[in-house]
Amino acid sequence: MDSIESRLKAVVASLPPQVTLVAVSKFHPVEAIREAYDAGQRIFGESRAQELVAKAPQLPTDIRWHFIGHLQTNKVAIVVPFVELIHSVDSLRLLRVIDREASRHGKCQDILLQLHVAEEETKFGFAVDEIDEAVAEASRFENIRLRGLMTMATNTDDTERVRADFIAAKTAFDSIGQSLIADSRCLFDTLSMGMSDDRDIAIDCGSTMVRIGTDIFGERFRKQN
Ligand SMILES: *Cc1c(COP(=O)(O)O)cnc(C)c1O
Repeated sequence: MDSIESRLKAVVASLPPQVTLVAVSKFHPVEAIREAYDAGQRIFGESRAQELVAKAPQLPTDIRWHFIGHLQTNKVAIVVPFVELIHSVDSLRLLRVIDREASRHGKCQDILLQLHVAEEETKFGFAVDEIDEAVAEASRFENIRLRGLMTMATNTDDTERVRADFIAAKTAFDSIGQSLIADSRCLFDTLSMGMSDDRDIAIDCGSTMVRIGTDIFGERFRKQN
């Protein structure tokens, strides 16, 4: 198998310059993260609070951690001190708790709202017809800065369906961006979409940030760490 370094470099080389790479290191050990770090990667994504807070202190402090998984409100307090960006804000209640914890740490927490465009009913996130209310709510909090949207496409081999999902997200992203132009506190510049299997379609549809795990670190085995 190729090394993490060579896989990472291949992924980086394949991305257009305006697209930011989040290396998704969930379920992989700190040694794997360090290998990617030594090859130059600085942004890493984790999806579980306990795992993030266990790994982060063992790794260089200039790593920029992103939280990409479903975040329970009772885990916000332990996550906020570590993270540059929370991709997966999927409820109004979560917004309130993030604001409170960010305030306690004297920080302004960058977040993305998770938009649900996929076919599956079980996925988290705001529906297209709920997102404007969530944007308005997010903009009320002093210690939250809304940076954009995150989405996941339907998990299917049907690339036209995947493309339709990403186009729906891009349309919502552009429309919200237009409506926020007057708000100087807002830097609405991030559309997080695309994983190992669908990143080319996502980039084609306007993604500015991709979240790649398997293509860099290989398959995940839950018991590995
Ligand atoms: C695990 C995960 C990824 C990475 O998926 P790969 O298919 O391994 O690239 C991206 N986004 C989220 C939200 C994830 O949970």
